[in-house]
Amino acid sequence: MLKRFISKFKKNQPQDPLRAQIIPRDHHSISRTNISEYALKVLYRLKKEGYEGYLVGGGVRDLLLGQEPKDFDVVTDATPEQVRRLFNNSRLIGKRFKLVHVVFGREIIEVATFRGHHSNATGKQEAHQSESGMLLRDNVYGTIEEDAMRRDFTVNALYYNIHNFAVHSYAGGIDDIHNGQLRLIGDPATRYREDPVRMIRAVRFAAKLNFEIEAETAAPISELAPLLGEIPPARLFEEVLKLFMAGHALETFRLLEEYSLFEPLFPQTQQCLDTSDFYRQFIEQALINSDDRIRQGKTLTPAFLYAVFLWPPMLEQSKLLADKGMPPAPAMHQAASQVMSNQQARIAIPRRFITPLREIWDLQRRLIRRQAKFVESTASHPRFRAAYDFLLLREAVGESLNGSGNWWTKYQEENEIVPQHDPAPKKRKGNYRPRHRDRGSKSNGRSKGPRTRS
Ligand code: ATP
Ligand code: MG
Repeated sequence: MLKRFISKFKKNQPQDPLRAQIIPRDHHSISRTNISEYALKVLYRLKKEGYEGYLVGGGVRDLLLGQEPKDFDVVTDATPEQVRRLFNNSRLIGKRFKLVHVVFGREIIEVATFRGHHSNATGKQEAHQSESGMLLRDNVYGTIEEDAMRRDFTVNALYYNIHNFAVHSYAGGIDDIHNGQLRLIGDPATRYREDPVRMIRAVRFAAKLNFEIEAETAAPISELAPLLGEIPPARLFEEVLKLFMAGHALETFRLLEEYSLFEPLFPQTQQCLDTSDFYRQFIEQALINSDDRIRQGKTLTPAFLYAVFLWPPMLEQSKLLADKGMPPAPAMHQAASQVMSNQQARIAIPRRFITPLREIWDLQRRLIRRQAKFVESTASHPRFRAAYDFLLLREAVGESLNGSGNWWTKYQEENEIVPQHDPAPKKRKGNYRPRHRDRGSKSNGRSKGPRTRS
């Protein structure tokens, strides 16, 4: 009787998160044919040298969901220095979160060492936290179990073992994959305080995977959202690109607003959204268009995205200046400078995107006025196409702009001056690839993420 009671009791107990649930190779859908040959090369080499080797995180998650992973990460018990010595084509990366990049042409396989508890640290060089609990250094090595507990979501604590091709799932990750749930490992508020970027990762994965954010994981977000203000603006630039340039921008935007996460990223824009639905429509239409572009395999430029997000506060500010008697052109110019400089305090937009952004805005007046002497130079401006798209967007949400969209469409057809289809993305020049990793506040020079056009 007691035995029966205990086994029933055990059944109802939450699983021990430190114990892996092991799914043997013939009980899951991951096949090596879907794994990058370079990731496999790295894994086989680790194995040959007697180390453990696992594919981990988003790569395993996406493969289990039948999606194509954006990148493949490897984790091992070898230290970064040991890994570095195994591969000639590798480099040590990062101070706050040390790891190794093994470079195969344009593909980089990131190899990390199992991370352990900070209580095992021997000094600030290994582990360091800010007063608010943010991780500033995370170089304590440990076991796979400890490593799993330091990952963000259960569905990211999945490990594919190169020794026997089994999947090791921690903290119920595999069940959450089946149930479509995003659940943070550990106490959600503590984990968000350690790294506030996890809040935007929650929203990003929810939109990308079409998963629910589990109630306890969702609960503290709105209250803790202002902590995003502590993230270095350069890291936020990278994070925001991942949010909006991966093909789920509209859903992501709606979730960000729902969880009060948009405000700390774009405070000036949020103010406009709070007072006018027109601006919301404008932004949503732009995001619908960019999601379409991604689906069609076209490129996107961060300059266009920021031109859209910052257009509402720029317009509002220039109206204020015009009300004070400033002529429209200088008012717009001054407003643009003010809005950009306020925004830079939150998100460090690199200079190479600011010039084109300003040009997209500046060209709006010329596109609408269509002065004969400027028509040709306008059409041959390097930012003409983006500015024209911007104009069409404004018209699509109901702005009356003198029939300019149609006029320029016809002009292009008659003069055959602009290709009707976007050219194939150029190889490297001008394409943007994020350089920062989104774990902790570490940046490590890794180059992966959405391909974009500048
Ligand atoms: P995607 O590549 O589709 O953006 P991902 O889950 O692979 O998603 P990465 O940024 O590539 O995300 O990170 C790889 C893995 O590293 C994650 O799956 C997770 O296990 C871990 N990780 C990344 N960022 C964090 C973080 N901020 N906190 C804890 N763990 C993280
Ligand atoms: Mg990844």
